[in-house]
Amino acid sequence: MDELPRRVLLQRVLQFAAALAIVPRVVGTARAADSCVDPTSESLRASLHYASVSPKADETCGGCGFFSRDGSKPACGSCQIMSGPVDEKGHCDSWAAKS
Ligand code: SF4
Repeated sequence: MDELPRRVLLQRVLQFAAALAIVPRVVGTARAADSCVDPTSESLRASLHYASVSPKADETCGGCGFFSRDGSKPACGSCQIMSGPVDEKGHCDSWAAKS
């Protein structure tokens, strides 16, 4: 094997390795931006048994009085109790019907 193809091959291997290292970060960032999770409220969510998908079809965050729409994240809303984003289809122990 002469020098030029070896360099090209090494270059391609390095480019491929760099791409493999970058892709998970980009995907992870995109998921975090799309998710309705706020890491600062994790303990509160756990104590109120928050679920991103309600086990009760007629009691979802979207129908809760503490929920308001958040235009910045289409599938999310904002919850007064959680002080942050929640999934419109979610549920927790503090659910109260909108009046
Ligand atoms: S109080 Fe609970 S059920 Fe109501 S919007 Fe917040 S997380 Fe959802």
